[in-house]
Amino acid sequence: RQRALSGIQPTSDSFHLGNYLGAVRQWVQLQDEFETFYFIPNMHGITTPHDPKALRERTVFAAAQLLALGVDPARSTMFVQSQIPEHAELTWVLSCITGFGEASRMTQFKDKSAKNGTDSSSVGLFTYPILMAADILLYRPQLVPVGEDQRQHLELTRNLAQRFNTRFKKTFVVPEAYIVSDTAKIYDLQNPTAKMSKSAESDAGLISILDDPKVIAKRVKSAVTDTEREIRFDRENKPGVSNLLTIESAFTGTSIPDLELAYEGKGYGDLKTRVADVLVDFATPLRGRVQGYLDDRSELDKVLTAGRERAREIASRTLADVYDRVGFLAP
Ligand code: ATP
Ligand code: MG
Repeated sequence: RQRALSGIQPTSDSFHLGNYLGAVRQWVQLQDEFETFYFIPNMHGITTPHDPKALRERTVFAAAQLLALGVDPARSTMFVQSQIPEHAELTWVLSCITGFGEASRMTQFKDKSAKNGTDSSSVGLFTYPILMAADILLYRPQLVPVGEDQRQHLELTRNLAQRFNTRFKKTFVVPEAYIVSDTAKIYDLQNPTAKMSKSAESDAGLISILDDPKVIAKRVKSAVTDTEREIRFDRENKPGVSNLLTIESAFTGTSIPDLELAYEGKGYGDLKTRVADVLVDFATPLRGRVQGYLDDRSELDKVLTAGRERAREIASRTLADVYDRVGFLAP
């Protein structure tokens, strides 16, 4: 079977709708067809100033959410990045075949460093895409499911894999990005031309999948729309309404044209009420399941221990090949 691999950062209290619709939902489906690897990139979580205690808690919390959302440990290898030392080791080798200019062109670094200026950004934030390339290439997956925001990083990963393979010897699989276009970008409810993000300035436009029903309802009801009245999908002119339609369609399976028909003659209030209901119905049972994994940690710990063993087995084999090919003495 072919392999798929992806990761989700433990950088906030709970995953948001974009993380779920753009990523984790696909992960769950891919388990049927692929040998799947899902990990928590906690080493990426220290590229900006952070609180160690929160990072540790969020790492566990992220694992609990993945299980509750349907990542199945019988079919997927789930692990924590920092427990596999090969990620850092391969990053060094890949750094040495990455051009400085090439790394400088990564738009996520430009965006993330714009706030405080590059002088106060860490080198780790700058080299983040190289660590991400190592995360992927170690496991030789064919497919990497991600949201639209990761397209450029995936392209870098592919370039580095090809470069290494040509410069030394075929070692890496050149992976394909798997981007589900309908939900590849969920937008901030308050600022519907910007992607919903854990690191947005304000979380007024963010829906966390574990939010309290009251918070969900409030955030959906105050979502920015437009001054027209018609409920119609138009990303250009009606980004807020289009975002809400995307969300409703993703959760209910009703196509957007069918939703447009059903909303004929209705107003934005009706749309918002319905979207809030759909989200609350999704979030309520999920909260219970996540809490279950946290209250009794034995299941979660077992999954992470097994994942770590399986991941190391594969990662250490790849790294041994890499070290051999670049001319290092055997470790
Ligand atoms: P940050 O904005 O700080 O990078 P994030 O919200 O993007 O955080 P990540 O852990 O970087 O969270 O992303 C996890 C996965 O969720 C990635 O595959 C990413 O592409 C996807 N994703 C993130 N935001 C969105 C979004 N708004 N819509 C669709 N997919 C998204
Ligand atoms: Mg991101």
